[in-house]
Amino acid sequence: MANTFIQPEPSPLALLLLGHGSDADTERGVECPGALPAPSDPDLVSRAQAAKAALGNRVYILGHHYQRDEVIQFADVTGDSFKLSQQAAAHPEAEFIVFEGVHFMAESADILTAEHQQVVLPDMAAGCSMADMADIEQVEECWDLLTELGIADVTVPITYMNSTAAIKAFTGRNGGSVCTSSNAERSLTWAFEQGEKVLFLPDQHLGRNTAVLDLGMSLDDCVVYNPNRPRGGLTDDELRNAKMILWRGHCSVHSRFSADTVDEVRERVPGVQVIVHPECNFDVVSRADVVGSTEKIIATITAAEPGSAWAVGTELNLVKRLAEEHSDKEIIFLDRTVCFCSTMNRIDLPHLVWALESLVNGEVVNRIEVDADTAHWARVALDRMLALPGVASAVQPD
Ligand code: SF4
Repeated sequence: MANTFIQPEPSPLALLLLGHGSDADTERGVECPGALPAPSDPDLVSRAQAAKAALGNRVYILGHHYQRDEVIQFADVTGDSFKLSQQAAAHPEAEFIVFEGVHFMAESADILTAEHQQVVLPDMAAGCSMADMADIEQVEECWDLLTELGIADVTVPITYMNSTAAIKAFTGRNGGSVCTSSNAERSLTWAFEQGEKVLFLPDQHLGRNTAVLDLGMSLDDCVVYNPNRPRGGLTDDELRNAKMILWRGHCSVHSRFSADTVDEVRERVPGVQVIVHPECNFDVVSRADVVGSTEKIIATITAAEPGSAWAVGTELNLVKRLAEEHSDKEIIFLDRTVCFCSTMNRIDLPHLVWALESLVNGEVVNRIEVDADTAHWARVALDRMLALPGVASAVQPD
């Protein structure tokens, strides 16, 4: 079958505004220091090849599935954020870990790798808008409120991998765990064995979808805590009665898909199967045929019958790559407009070349370092996830 992938139209929303600015305290990051090569430099590919060859085993490059082709071609391994951090830890000979991903991923890599390994994020402005939606001061304020109401003791905090190291450490300190989109159901099941309620951070959609569609709760069991409103915008009784307290965060990319886009593609492409990421909203996930992490989406499409048609609701770089790699299947992007993760896209070839050439010249630029106390408690939360039945074996390094 010829490649039938249809390029979506440009987005009417200014998603590229994300990642601008210079606030070092947020996931939106800061401007890069130093002189970047010009994007028009025709030698960028050969410069990246030469720098990588010069560094040899001293560098290990991690490429998240949502990264651009122009940088993913230099990745030593591709995957989701947790798998990539584990792969970095499995290569202790590499003193430099270059993360083609976003800031919280580089933090996780620093937490999981050895002391002598230094993690580099080629563009410090590559943050994550979802991770930015849970600020540690706001989360501590929420926990103080639950303590005041006498329910903190029976609440287990669970944070999605897509959160800052400070939030992971908060969950570690307070008896909670990290989860990924692959093991959210197991993490929540564990949490409800430890307590009566869960505070789920920072993605309300993953929390709601897992609680309702996998654990059989009702939508009424869930409340949404809005950190920008007094007492989360909830009454004391709403907080006392809820089983799932969902933080009001979301992914700017996956929340763009709507129930209409699912209905529309089913009308337009008879027999199409809809596969979406659980960061999509409840209406989208409820209408989909398959729901799963990026790794599950890739595995499902790889195993699908030739000639089958798939509408995919996840980041566009990954969907385009799937369409190129599976030209025997019809791969359709679930939205009609462009839906890149703008902050992921900030890692481009000029930044990669700059980071690698700096390492060749003996200068470690854009190092991501998590302080020892935060790293310790974040590691506690990550280890609780790894101790869940079946999780460690599912995420062993390749
Ligand atoms: S795709 Fe969404 S969750 Fe992932 S880095 Fe981008 S904004 Fe964050």
